[in-house]
Amino acid sequence: MKSNASGSSTYRSLAQQRARVATELGAASLQRFADICEAVKGIAADLSFDHDGQTRIRVSGRVHCEAQLACHRCEQLVWRQVNSDFAGVIAFDEEQAASWSQLDPDLDILVVGGANLNVVELVEDELLLALPKRVCTDDDCVHMPKMRYGEAAVDDEDDEMSAEDLKRFPFAGLKDAMQAGDKEQD
Ligand SMILES: [Zn+2]
Repeated sequence: MKSNASGSSTYRSLAQQRARVATELGAASLQRFADICEAVKGIAADLSFDHDGQTRIRVSGRVHCEAQLACHRCEQLVWRQVNSDFAGVIAFDEEQAASWSQLDPDLDILVVGGANLNVVELVEDELLLALPKRVCTDDDCVHMPKMRYGEAAVDDEDDEMSAEDLKRFPFAGLKDAMQAGDKEQD
């Protein structure tokens, strides 16, 4: 069964119907996530509801989007796929979550703010957690400024390594660049 995300289905009724909700979300509705990204498109969520063994509401789902992020190292904007698969039981307040968590520390609990389905509430934290730590992976950061070989590096004498140094210590500049990137993130 597919429901409209903006409908007034309650989590309880969705679980009773073992409902599946597939929906697309606008970037504007995920404000916290959108604020971190340069741009976001194609946000799609697919959620399934049922009960766990003990009358709790269980949700399992997948959320996906494409996010344009700024690489701290090369300062380019890069489109990355952001995916998250998640599952957990729904708690309606922090106290409930805390008592469940005490009994079962491994339980994944999603705390919601109301009885009615709010897709954004369920998926926004998952997207935030799924953001890549580094926008470019070490190998595909094609714009890495300190890894210039040949003429470009020789032109720039001050603090930069010479082309000769780069040949001998190919990863020295990379390490600096990575540390600089880490500092920027703090
Ligand atoms: Zn990069």
